[in-house]
Amino acid sequence: MNANSCPATAIKPAPFRIGLATSRSHQQGPDSALAQLLNGSRANIEDHLKPQLIVVGRTLDAMQQSGLLDRYQHIERFPYGRQGGLMKLVSRVVDTDPTRTLDAVIYIMDPVDPSSTFPEAVALKRQCVIHGKPFLSTLAGAREWLELEAMATGAAPNTALDATFNLGDEGIALIAHDAMKNRMLDMAERHFALLDQFAFRCATGTTGSLLNKLAQRIKGAEAGRNWVRPYLSGPLGGDAQIAELILDRQQCRRVLFLEDPHVARQHEADIQLLERAARTVTDYALCISDAGCGDRWLTLLQQRVALVKL
Ligand code: PGA
Repeated sequence: MNANSCPATAIKPAPFRIGLATSRSHQQGPDSALAQLLNGSRANIEDHLKPQLIVVGRTLDAMQQSGLLDRYQHIERFPYGRQGGLMKLVSRVVDTDPTRTLDAVIYIMDPVDPSSTFPEAVALKRQCVIHGKPFLSTLAGAREWLELEAMATGAAPNTALDATFNLGDEGIALIAHDAMKNRMLDMAERHFALLDQFAFRCATGTTGSLLNKLAQRIKGAEAGRNWVRPYLSGPLGGDAQIAELILDRQQCRRVLFLEDPHVARQHEADIQLLERAARTVTDYALCISDAGCGDRWLTLLQQRVALVKL
């Protein structure tokens, strides 16, 4: 595992190397997701994280046309998608050479763009999960990650994001595949105080019942019967029920979904549906898909939440 990537205790050494790509519909115009990301997170990028950005061709063309990060030096051009730019990003995620490997990928996807389902797009996400590297596929996810990692280097919080860190108004979905359920329980126990601050927690059926037992053990009767609201089990449609909460922009924008990337699942379509839902509301939702990144995220989230001034 790369030292930059996941354990919450890791000290970030060199600047991140981040792969950056966007679907075509997210590239054009002053209000595009690409423009919102790079303008909104400009200080975190230019003044604090100073990452090396490896940018796929058309996304970099759009940045140059719109003058985004126009004075930023640390940008490397990767080929256009049709020339294999996305495929090369996958190879860089798994590369063990510290001078080439990517520490994170930001790929702001449009779920109705067919390229979002190309094998290289699926492999990019899967290899990020396998190698414990953040895969940020929504505007909200990328902005939050840059904010939290910049804060970890000492940056002052961006108060424009404060409302999103007021957990008393926020919900979180917690889902774990069978091989990951113990990791979920372990993580939920260690971050219980933070998770308890959310106004609303929901989960797929089996994950939810395990988490409710944990809450009873930690909090006793005060936890109530449903500390987490359990929906149907994943294979019976729970992912689709949680997707609806996200699509309605009600109650829940954050999803911690500990996926097991090594097992074929009968309800793969439902899992993809949930991720598609998050990408459909790119400015609102975010999804974290592996335990190491989830752990670091919750640790940094705790620190950021403490800084909210409303
Ligand atoms: P479960 O569903 O929490 O009901 O096990 C998770 C899943 O397999 O998607």
